[in-house]
Amino acid sequence: MSCSWREIFFASSAFGNFGTEMSIQPVVRYWGFLLAKLLAGAVLLVPLLSLLNHLIAPGTPFLHVSTKWFGFDLLYTSMVGLWFLMASGILYLCIWDQRYRCRVCLRRLRMPIETGSWSLMLQLGRPRIEYICPYGHGKLNVEELQILGRENPEWTEQRDMWEELLAGKGPDSRK
Ligand SMILES: [Zn+2]
Repeated sequence: MSCSWREIFFASSAFGNFGTEMSIQPVVRYWGFLLAKLLAGAVLLVPLLSLLNHLIAPGTPFLHVSTKWFGFDLLYTSMVGLWFLMASGILYLCIWDQRYRCRVCLRRLRMPIETGSWSLMLQLGRPRIEYICPYGHGKLNVEELQILGRENPEWTEQRDMWEELLAGKGPDSRK
């Protein structure tokens, strides 16, 4: 059984809801953006922990919490608790923001509209919230009711919106 590196790459990118026909560049850009956000968060959080250790518990190794002070000193324990909450919040925001970004151009998805209906499920499908990219690269369907735990939103890539709108007008009218 042979598998090309391209197939492996796109199988691993299914987590980001990319279509199989996509080129590699948007996939790298999408995950690179998340990495950049996480690095920016680390740039804020690492010095903060170092400063906290320097002020209250000097001699603590880099990126460690002092076992001598943590759990025994109220101020140090509270500050480390706050730092941990902040780190969790930043991580959550990075991932939450990433879910609602266009997979092609990384702009925030806009115009959420409700589609589907429970009473007309066979005709309209299950209730979902649909977001679109303002530049028409695609749409994201987020299930309204997450029955089976957290479900991955479904990204549908579209052809260029402007190309479709002007499709009937001939190639010369677009220039
Ligand atoms: Zn876009």
